[in-house]
Amino acid sequence: MKRLMQFLIIFLTILLPIMVIISIPHIDIDKEIVVSFNSSFNDEYRASSLFYDYTDEVEVNSNVDTSKLGIYEINYELKFGPFTIHNKKEVNVVDKTSPVIELVNGNEVNVCPNCEYVEDGYKAIDDYDKDITDKVEVINKDNEIIYRVSDSSGNSAEVIRKINYVDKEKPVIKLKGDSEISIYLNSSYNELGYSATDNCDGDITKNVSVTNKVDTSKIGSYEVTYLVSDKAGNSNMIKRKVNVINRPVYTGVGNGVIYLTFDDGPSNITSSILDLLDKYGIKATFFVTNNVNNYPNILKRAYNSGHSIGLHTYTHEYSTVYSSVNNYFLDLSKIDNAVYNIIGIHSKIIRFPGGSSNTISRNYSIGIMSTLSNEVVNRGYNYFDWNIDSNDAGSDVYNSSNIYKNVINGLSHNKANVVLMHDSGSHNATYMALDSIITYAINNGYRFDILKSNTTPVHHGINN
Ligand code: ZN
Repeated sequence: MKRLMQFLIIFLTILLPIMVIISIPHIDIDKEIVVSFNSSFNDEYRASSLFYDYTDEVEVNSNVDTSKLGIYEINYELKFGPFTIHNKKEVNVVDKTSPVIELVNGNEVNVCPNCEYVEDGYKAIDDYDKDITDKVEVINKDNEIIYRVSDSSGNSAEVIRKINYVDKEKPVIKLKGDSEISIYLNSSYNELGYSATDNCDGDITKNVSVTNKVDTSKIGSYEVTYLVSDKAGNSNMIKRKVNVINRPVYTGVGNGVIYLTFDDGPSNITSSILDLLDKYGIKATFFVTNNVNNYPNILKRAYNSGHSIGLHTYTHEYSTVYSSVNNYFLDLSKIDNAVYNIIGIHSKIIRFPGGSSNTISRNYSIGIMSTLSNEVVNRGYNYFDWNIDSNDAGSDVYNSSNIYKNVINGLSHNKANVVLMHDSGSHNATYMALDSIITYAINNGYRFDILKSNTTPVHHGINN
């Protein structure tokens, strides 16, 4: 009995409290946790006693928001009999990610020697602060530019742009005119021109060396080479192919043939002229300008009736069309397209404003007629001057009887008669003279024809 009492005393005073203590659960946590901004946060905790796991019974009170920097507290509570067991944890949401600096045009750029580097631009983006480009510090150091930035949490970034003061780019050579042209046997090669520019040296056209191996005395294909180097020694070369070809064979020459040609139209008198030509069943040739846009139906009527349509230039402005070879062809392509849009053909016959012998073009470009008269043929056109001038664009503009005389005095049975007349708006006198001219020609055994791309042309001498 005494032993039993002893055991109970020991049990109650020593073992029971120990038993109780080891039966009370406790909540295990890390006291302080640091997590990255925007990361997913998995809270870890455990509640247990020596004998049981109570984790599932823990009540957790958390307001952790990893999308916002800050210190958050998580409270844990576990009810155990009459006891309530507490614990708490601090969660620090921090930005540990450095911002990123991006350089426009890369981390290494070439700049012309003796030039200043002009900033290409940069951007700094931070995962938390977003765009912090305006916080970037730019430091110029010899051949480097250093870009530094820190975000609001003190994470910093630095990138370096290396500047090479070197010219590695080739100059660019551009040809005026086509890169392949054809010229006639025994004619002369006219250089159409070129330009050369370099990224560092600017215009270096004067440094281009041209090697011309064209032998116009022999049929064949030749090359003209254009070579240029910049100061840094980068060079470039391009070529122009020049084909020396036989002259085209023209046909249609006929003694006593009359080619009536009307320039500068169409206009409101063109339909009267067409009526008159219809009356005699005669076909003529019209060298048209941008007036076709005002009288598209008259152009259609002329073409559909079998008259020949030639290109006279779009603007007919000497200062435009004779300002340069390029400008001439730009203008020519405009009238070509205008005509094409109305009647659906690309005419290959042309007449130069003022004729190929004009001297007015000297005011705008010395030597241009020499170049153009070759170049239009190179490009597949046949150009026509005239050998009888009605003078209806000169002093006889309002004088039908003089216009009549000028034409019939020029007619000959020993040549192809190319008669220059005009059908723009002011040329009523031309129309008034036309019936008599045609009647005279018919009565005197002449016949009429139209100019075509293969008609033997009448050419003036070139004066510019
Ligand atoms: Zn004209």
